[in-house]
Amino acid sequence: MRLDQMYQEVILDHYKRPHGKGLVEPFDSQVHHVNPTCGDEITLRVKLTGGPGEYTVESVSFDSQGCSISQASASVLHDQVQGVSLDQAMLTLDEFSQLMRSATQDVNLDEELLGDAIAFEGVAQYPARIKCALLAWMAFKDAAMQASGAPQNHASEVTGDE
Ligand code: ZN
Repeated sequence: MRLDQMYQEVILDHYKRPHGKGLVEPFDSQVHHVNPTCGDEITLRVKLTGGPGEYTVESVSFDSQGCSISQASASVLHDQVQGVSLDQAMLTLDEFSQLMRSATQDVNLDEELLGDAIAFEGVAQYPARIKCALLAWMAFKDAAMQASGAPQNHASEVTGDE
């Protein structure tokens, strides 16, 4: 089996059997993000434990609708960031953002942090789909920043402005 076929299988598998789908309680923050280009939508909840500088991502859950890329990406996000330190979750997010730029830039990826997210490598070839893949990750970043009380860079992007 070729690598890109294997990657497609991984994405399809997460799409068919998403992990973390279904909003859970309790939660610290909830955000709603939309990708108007494709019509993808996600509502995502984050619960952190610990305190400043040593937060752990206790849970990440979501409810979403949209294309297979956006749905599968949310499932992979859940797998990669739930249960790890917030620091590691943010590093993973950074790796995923780099992966999405890998078609046009030289990147040095940490495949261990990425896990199944590496399967989205092919998506980087399609600029229109990159937003689909990033939707859940940007929602997570937003929710985690709110939950940890960190200052927000993009206050106007926060929740439900559609
Ligand atoms: Zn999409």
